[in-house]
Amino acid sequence: MKSSKFDRRSFLGKTVAGTAVIAASGLVSRVDAEVTPEPMKGESGENIIRADVLVVGGGSAGHVAAIQAARAGASTIVVERNSQLGGTTTTAGVSFPGLYHAWGKQIIAGIGWELVTQAVELNGGTLPDFTQVPDKHWEHQVFLNGQLYALLAEDACLEAGVSLAYYQFVHKLRSTDDGWLVDIMGQGVEYTIACKQIIDCTGGAEVVAMAGFERVRSDIRQPGTLMFKIGGIERKKLDKAVIQKEYQKAIADGRLIKGDCANGNMHSFLLGSGANNNHIFGADSATAGTQTQANLAGRKSLMRLLKFIRKLPGGENAKIEKMMTETGVRETSRIVGETTLTVNDYTSGRMFDDAVCYSFYPIDVHDEHGVKPEPLDPGTFPTIPLGALIPKKSRNIIVAGRCLASDRLANSAARIQASCMAMGQAAGVTAALAVKKGCTPLDVPIADIRNLLREHSAIIPGEI
Ligand SMILES: Cc1cc2nc3c(=O)[nH]c(=O)nc-3n(C[C@H](O)[C@H](O)[C@H](O)COP(=O)(O)OP(=O)(O)OC[C@H]3O[C@@H](n4cnc5c(N)ncnc54)[C@H](O)[C@@H]3O)c2cc1C
Repeated sequence: MKSSKFDRRSFLGKTVAGTAVIAASGLVSRVDAEVTPEPMKGESGENIIRADVLVVGGGSAGHVAAIQAARAGASTIVVERNSQLGGTTTTAGVSFPGLYHAWGKQIIAGIGWELVTQAVELNGGTLPDFTQVPDKHWEHQVFLNGQLYALLAEDACLEAGVSLAYYQFVHKLRSTDDGWLVDIMGQGVEYTIACKQIIDCTGGAEVVAMAGFERVRSDIRQPGTLMFKIGGIERKKLDKAVIQKEYQKAIADGRLIKGDCANGNMHSFLLGSGANNNHIFGADSATAGTQTQANLAGRKSLMRLLKFIRKLPGGENAKIEKMMTETGVRETSRIVGETTLTVNDYTSGRMFDDAVCYSFYPIDVHDEHGVKPEPLDPGTFPTIPLGALIPKKSRNIIVAGRCLASDRLANSAARIQASCMAMGQAAGVTAALAVKKGCTPLDVPIADIRNLLREHSAIIPGEI
């Protein structure tokens, strides 16, 4: 494998098939700050852009992975099918990432934490008091403005030299002696990225599957949620007994369906403006078709709710104050990895030899009854091994985010945003080092990964 020069300018300028190709691909970087309207078409492999690292999916894990890879010197591209970075944190509206602290100690810092605290500070918010161990885990989640977060993430990418390719996705890919040729498509653009390492941050390990590596998917999966806020409720007029009776009637005659109010408590739903309180069963981000269905189901649910609420005393003036553009998906596919994180590993706080970050959350499975989080025992600090980010028997590809190799219960906890961000940073470091050393992620010495993570302010397992 050829060694990387780790020179961003060479990627953005001359080592590629010409700057015209970069511009016409719709990639945006600081140097190339305009998106040309010129469509670019060509046979597979004809219009080639070279990069050290390709990150597919710019969600909770992906943007951190890209910033980290670029800050470590790797020329990096993010291909994202949506309009902005942040994924579930921003586009799906789950703008309360957690958990960065456990049992009175900070366990996750680094790039995700840097952006999260910037977002809070810029909007004049305050962070929770992390010195206290809260009764309810969500009291340590950090509430922020998701769209501001997307902006800050984008700025940090551009600042680090990452090129952004929105509204684009992987069409197909094939491995080469020293990496991958990845055909990218989007509206009016079609080109090939020749890269050395791929970081799959699609949430469902979509690229891993395209590359022919195994994934698992449970028959029963957690429901999704469309995030929205219903305003105009006159709380003083709400009568719990009346509301619950009306709710039961509406379920019985089909005006509402199970899941419209996730835990069946319509009174508390109204007090909370409906935020994060509906379940869209079957919501699945695996294909454009399934995500479309999930979005339609989410919007229909909201319309049913609005009609119902407007007939309740106190709900006459109900209105939609906020509705996200897509239904958030909790669970799709996970990789079969070199190591599988099990629920026992998680709840016992197993310290893996190749641990790259901490993760902290209750076991948290949503189902038809709502959700009953199962907290960890005091003093438990779960870790995530590098092996859970590496598809079994793969070369030159690594994942980060909710698709890590894990059993279903471990995944219900490890999938949360702070953990995804920490995995993203670890994957970014590992991919950049793999490029530099001309090896595959599994062969990067764990000490080198930890050293570079430490240099970039991440918290290393065993060092809290
Ligand atoms: C309703 C809901 C509530 C939640 N509550 C919490 C909570 O309270 N606290 C918490 O911390 N976590 C919570 N989570 C979990 C957490 O938000 C997610 O598990 C986490 O954000 C997943 O991050 P990710 O990077 O793996 O995936 P995502 O953030 O989903 O990012 C995947 C990205 O990849 C893109 N993509 C997908 N396929 C392709 C493709 N083929 N090509 C290009 N781009 C692609 C997507 O557009 C997206 O931007 C919740 C999740 C949901 C859905």
